[in-house]
Amino acid sequence: MSSPAAAAPVKYRRVMLKISGEALMGDLGYGLHPPTVQRIAAEVKSVHDLGVEICLVIGGGNIFRGLAGSAQGMERTTADYMGMLATVMNALAMQSALEQIGVFTRVISAIPMDQVCEPYIRRRAVRHLEKKRVCIFAAGTGNPYFTTDTAATLRANEMACEAIFKGTKVDGVYDKDPRKFADAKRYETVTYDECLEKHLGVMDSTAIALARDNSLPIIVFSLDEPGGFRGILAGQGTYTRVEG
Ligand code: UDP
Repeated sequence: MSSPAAAAPVKYRRVMLKISGEALMGDLGYGLHPPTVQRIAAEVKSVHDLGVEICLVIGGGNIFRGLAGSAQGMERTTADYMGMLATVMNALAMQSALEQIGVFTRVISAIPMDQVCEPYIRRRAVRHLEKKRVCIFAAGTGNPYFTTDTAATLRANEMACEAIFKGTKVDGVYDKDPRKFADAKRYETVTYDECLEKHLGVMDSTAIALARDNSLPIIVFSLDEPGGFRGILAGQGTYTRVEG
């Protein structure tokens, strides 16, 4: 009998979805906006229903960013740990929203906190994916001075994801900010090196270099578009593919 993934009208079997913490705050300006978390959970479910195995990394910027803390005089590594803890809160919120709509999940933290979620054990996480559980990787890489974009790239490589889908507020990578410049042009495809050289802001340079060195494509798309994630997986809609 063929697996649901094999029957799915999508070319991906296992993917990483990276969303920023800010994607969960709606118009609130801070923290979590439950209807927005539920909307994104429904987007994830719609792809999960296709049989695609899903890894998820959520940032923490809606609650705390290490750089912001250190700019206010806090010791940088402490501030970064606070940022990592913020990602755990977001992961738990997403877990709750997904499980309410019948999607089994595991929150897997790079910093062990056994009463709250599972510690990261690579082979165990792979097994969860094989059992069609959505794996929400929390606490970033577990190290200060990194970002959740780098965590997403690291976990995507470890989990052998075929691509990272970076859900943003715009439908791809532009040569300049499309919200400020009417003549901004969207790239269909762009190379990792171009992203780095032109500072295109897809992800931070550590994340891009890690994706480049492991030939992991990054697909930048709009998470604000209803049905967007599922559409992109089926090869529809607009997006930018970062590769080569
Ligand atoms: N962070 C960290 N190490 C990591 C991942 C994240 O120290 O491996 C901290 C860092 O302070 C960062 C914060 O967690 O500012 C929140 O993550 P990020 O800024 O990537 O969130 P996003 O911008 O995606 O919401």
